[in-house]
Amino acid sequence: MRLSSVLVIAGICVPFGAPLRAQQLILSEPPDPVITSVVDRLDLERYKATIKGLTQFGDRRQGTARNRAAIDWIEAQLKSYGCTPTERLTYQWQPKPPRRATIGPNQTVGGGTLRGNRRGTRPNVDSLKQTDLALRALNTPPTVPGERQEVYCTKVGTTHPEEMYIVGAHMDGIGWGEAANDDGSGTALVMELARVLSSPDVRTSRSIRFILWNNEESGLEGAEAYVAQRRALQGQESPAGSGKYPEPKWLGMIQHDMMMFDHGMPRADSSVSKQQRPEADVNIEFQSRSPMAAEAQKLAWIFATANERYAHDYPATVGQHMTNTDSDPFKDIVPAISLRENERGSQIGAGWDPQWHQPTDLFATYTDADFRLGLNAGQTTLAAIAELAGLTLVK
Ligand SMILES: [Zn+2]
Repeated sequence: MRLSSVLVIAGICVPFGAPLRAQQLILSEPPDPVITSVVDRLDLERYKATIKGLTQFGDRRQGTARNRAAIDWIEAQLKSYGCTPTERLTYQWQPKPPRRATIGPNQTVGGGTLRGNRRGTRPNVDSLKQTDLALRALNTPPTVPGERQEVYCTKVGTTHPEEMYIVGAHMDGIGWGEAANDDGSGTALVMELARVLSSPDVRTSRSIRFILWNNEESGLEGAEAYVAQRRALQGQESPAGSGKYPEPKWLGMIQHDMMMFDHGMPRADSSVSKQQRPEADVNIEFQSRSPMAAEAQKLAWIFATANERYAHDYPATVGQHMTNTDSDPFKDIVPAISLRENERGSQIGAGWDPQWHQPTDLFATYTDADFRLGLNAGQTTLAAIAELAGLTLVK
């Protein structure tokens, strides 16, 4: 175990790596009325409508026409919000042999520990389990190896266009459903933040990039391609003297993956409550094994504080086992966190979400109490990013 991991787990804050600026460590107290007013521009019905829009493309599986159509639709929405110009990253995808993690019987991916009741979590690969025949037909064309794309747009900072936060979610899904929660809920969250922050009266000092990753479900290859292609471009002004930075320096990466369903631990008979549990929370995770753990942990606590100040209904909980999502390829380079409905390793990995990669991950499966958890994660990220990027409103 790395020394940094030991110190982080002990809860001791040790200076490590590039320090976050002091201004980034203290959220204004009491709540900033400007941030409050911007957070209040998020709306449950709009969030639901964006998720619903994504589900028209079925499971949006990578390497299919329905996946490409979803990217086109997302791009059209981003443009309509004024988040322009939109850009696309292009890369090649070929299937790879599965990577198997070697972990102990009660350990989880990411370094957590399994407790209590568990249920199976195998992704569905049986088309016949989708009883909606129209949806089954939509999801039938298989993935084909080859060229892939993913779309992003950027709000350019007024005083520090050369630095940015990356706010992401993956738009691809699997399992023969509608990928409404995994990860329509995160994709819609990022799109709604792009909409609110692209409003003509919103300024930020630093830049913010909104990106909808592809190929998360096949093994994070969309995020990996982004890191491989763009890491070395960070902070370069191009053309020289233009004041334009095609790849601002990465200040942090914030991923959103499965935002809505926190119905608690499975019962002993493997059933799961039909109701959102009243204790539902937003799980903010960093990775204690990363060399950036100390900085990522600070970022996680900034988000937890933003949740306390600005989110309306549900609290946030910080954990140290971020894993298996698009923040992974960033975590050793910059402070990276993920926001989720549950901890990925010990909770989702134990079967807390029975819709995960299943034909039942449909828009119609969820109630407003579920959608509202996703909206509260959006309120959390919007408030934290507003503070970190220096948001102001102009008349
Ligand atoms: Zn996911």
